[in-house]
Amino acid sequence: MLQFQTGNLVYLECDSGSTMKYDVVIVGAGPSGSTVAKCLAEKGVKALLIDKKKFPRDKPCGGGLSTRVLKRFPYVIDLIDSMSYGSITYSSSLKYKLKIQRDKPLIATILRKNFDNGLVKIAVAKGVDFLDEKTVTDIKILKDKAIILLEDGEKIESQVVIGADGIRSVIAEKLNLFKKTDDICVSLVQEQPMSGEQLDKYFSDKRMVHIFIKMRGVAGYGWIFPKKKNVNIGIGEFESAVDKSKPKTNLKEIYEKHIDTLKEHDILPRDFKIENLKGSALPVFPLEKTFADRALLCGDAAGFINSITGEGIYYAMVSGEIAANVTAEALEACDTSERFLSRYQKLWKNEFGKDLKLFGRFNKQWGKDTEKFVRLLTKDKKLAKLTIGATGGQISISRYKLILTLRYIYVSFKDIFSRDK
Ligand SMILES: Cc1cc2nc3c(=O)[nH]c(=O)nc-3n(C[C@H](O)[C@H](O)[C@H](O)COP(=O)(O)OP(=O)(O)OC[C@H]3O[C@@H](n4cnc5c(N)ncnc54)[C@H](O)[C@@H]3O)c2cc1C
Repeated sequence: MLQFQTGNLVYLECDSGSTMKYDVVIVGAGPSGSTVAKCLAEKGVKALLIDKKKFPRDKPCGGGLSTRVLKRFPYVIDLIDSMSYGSITYSSSLKYKLKIQRDKPLIATILRKNFDNGLVKIAVAKGVDFLDEKTVTDIKILKDKAIILLEDGEKIESQVVIGADGIRSVIAEKLNLFKKTDDICVSLVQEQPMSGEQLDKYFSDKRMVHIFIKMRGVAGYGWIFPKKKNVNIGIGEFESAVDKSKPKTNLKEIYEKHIDTLKEHDILPRDFKIENLKGSALPVFPLEKTFADRALLCGDAAGFINSITGEGIYYAMVSGEIAANVTAEALEACDTSERFLSRYQKLWKNEFGKDLKLFGRFNKQWGKDTEKFVRLLTKDKKLAKLTIGATGGQISISRYKLILTLRYIYVSFKDIFSRDK
């Protein structure tokens, strides 16, 4: 095996014929894979991180990061592009809008190309080997090892494999952990440079985030994340909440009309152009089983997404950290059986499983009328704070469920009686 260095990244090249051997191979170098890699290297485990794309690579994403990511993984602070100190949430008709502004950041924003590459660099600096432009096509689980097969015919051996390979995970599929489902969120997103002057004019120095609930009847929402020198705009529709009896929506047409509306309402500059629009998808519900003999699944590969907002980076990194801890314990105990690795599923369920389940239950609300809900939010600061906090990840929805429900009922009744007067 040859080793060479460009910048801070160490790249590996395989000599044809020789088989690389590692304790752990991590497939996919997004936020989940890099987190697993970094945590394993810190524990002295010999790990290889592998990705099919050439790095630095971009990934269609809003790039909104809940501030809890910074609390839990403080080393990402240098990879943040900017901070947003508030948000404006619009109802479907744009009639109601809820404005929240804070002294502390509401969310951090990132450019995925820089963020993901930065995370890989951090893992490599800790001692992880990194191979890019290598596509994993298959995996064989044997009694004494796992064999990872690459598109170019190379083989890699390891004790454990981590599937961190995103929504269409080859690892999940080959291990029969993935069930084909239409429950995804389809999305369109564009990110492009905008002058500081225009960003200040339209989004203020607070870099106000804009959220458009069910814009143009879409069973989902639209967003604008203003960043330091870029603006990220997108829309997403949750297929699970779509009324299948109605004609299928053309998301691109809706996006174009949505942009026109934003220009008409002076939310975007009149000369704003739709450019580099990318289509993508997110999983919506966690897989039933996220472990197997010698294998674990993390991040999108396991379906760890908030099915109300589409937030996934926090869950990707937390699941990566948990997977690394369990893998290191398994190696130490010389037990990489699925019985031992099943503790991974217990741990992630304890940490964020209840929240994901609740978001999953609320997901169907995207198919219903949300106009009243946004109107009620504008009428009650406490309800607004709780809702933004729970959906934005500042508070746990499972812990605040009762308070949130009672507040909603209270505000609904108050609204009925104040209207009757
Ligand atoms: C339009 C859109 C907007 C989003 N906005 C946000 C947001 O604002 N905030 C947020 O928190 N989340 C957001 N998400 C979700 C977020 O992008 C994901 O949850 C996150 O990227 C998951 O990280 P991951 O490491 O699990 O997977 P990924 O980031 O998808 O990384 C997987 C990696 O695996 C590699 N790979 C795949 N197959 C193979 C293979 N066979 N061999 C080798 N390598 C392979 C890929 O090249 C990729 O680099 C958004 C998603 C979309 C689609």
